[in-house]
Amino acid sequence: MGDRIKRRIAILGSTGSIGQQTLEVARNLADRFEVVGLGAGKNVSLLSSQVEEFHPKLVSFQAGEGLSELPHGNYRLIPMEEIASHPEVELVVVATSGKAGLIPTLAALRAGKPIALANKEVLVMAGEIIMAEAKRHKIQILPLDSEHSAIWQCLQGEERGKVSRLLLTASGGPFWHYSLEQLAAVTPEEALKHPTWRMGKKVTIDSATLMNKGMEVIEAHWLFDIPFDHIDVMIHPTSVVHSLVEFVDGSVKAQLSPPDMRLPIQYALSYPERVSNWQLPKIDWSKFVSLSFERPEPGRFPCLEIAIEAGRKGGTYPAVLCAADEVAVELFLSGYIGFLEIAEVVREALEKHQPTNHPTLEEILAADQWTREYAKNWRPS
Ligand code: MG
Repeated sequence: MGDRIKRRIAILGSTGSIGQQTLEVARNLADRFEVVGLGAGKNVSLLSSQVEEFHPKLVSFQAGEGLSELPHGNYRLIPMEEIASHPEVELVVVATSGKAGLIPTLAALRAGKPIALANKEVLVMAGEIIMAEAKRHKIQILPLDSEHSAIWQCLQGEERGKVSRLLLTASGGPFWHYSLEQLAAVTPEEALKHPTWRMGKKVTIDSATLMNKGMEVIEAHWLFDIPFDHIDVMIHPTSVVHSLVEFVDGSVKAQLSPPDMRLPIQYALSYPERVSNWQLPKIDWSKFVSLSFERPEPGRFPCLEIAIEAGRKGGTYPAVLCAADEVAVELFLSGYIGFLEIAEVVREALEKHQPTNHPTLEEILAADQWTREYAKNWRPS
């Protein structure tokens, strides 16, 4: 057997949780993937060890200091958007967080590169622009988020016009059964302990407030071109069913697997092929696997409702949502505001914002900037 031609991938955000798990997949399937680009924000020591292991040709490091710690090697140090559009790269994994992924995603699309997208804020902030650009260049955006990967897998072989509803599952985070008084007293340490998923800090807090699920509804709206009225959220605490699709005839398809991000990552990287990987866990059917679903109780998780409302209104509102939430989560983690005040910061920023419809990228970034200033100075009234 001859050597397989390897898919040449670049990972932006390689030191984050998704980035590291993407490299685990690449390490395990080294006969299929060659890591040609690595980009990180500030963790220079981890980036250095990744560079030593994977020998990428292209490296990006955003924080100015620490650069001298990078190992010597035969690579070029360039900005993330140049990695994203570089001729060496065949598939760009966008695993950055917040707005950091926006410019590199656009650069990749304009260079005609397929994208595996984990950085959901990219679609939440600028879904209209990103999807128009993807369409113009006939590029498919491959979802890395577990819920969207599940929906994508359920849609294989189906006609989009025959979908009647998307059902996104949410673990509910550690507090879905808490009373409002209990929620008000939640500490950062408690909120950072997620019951089922291994994730970064920001998304762990967003899972506890269900802001993450609200953003995922917006993400699903853009990825699959489904109206908000046809997207529902279900609490499913064991995180075994990753999402469901209901069709016009009433049939429902679901995707199940143990909660492990490496499966959706691998599915996107190897698509359209399914690949065996000894590292990936399988459901143990000899144990009782209970599948329970509940609707989120209205009013209990205001961030979920605020996010969906911002998505429906569109324009610059979802960009304000992302920026306000990012600042609010930082304020919560540093002890300046309580858990329930995360929703208050976001709600007030959205109320004070002067929106723009069909915004340009500049208008989105301006809304982001305004919101950060506003949210940073937020104090409980
Ligand atoms: Mg998710």
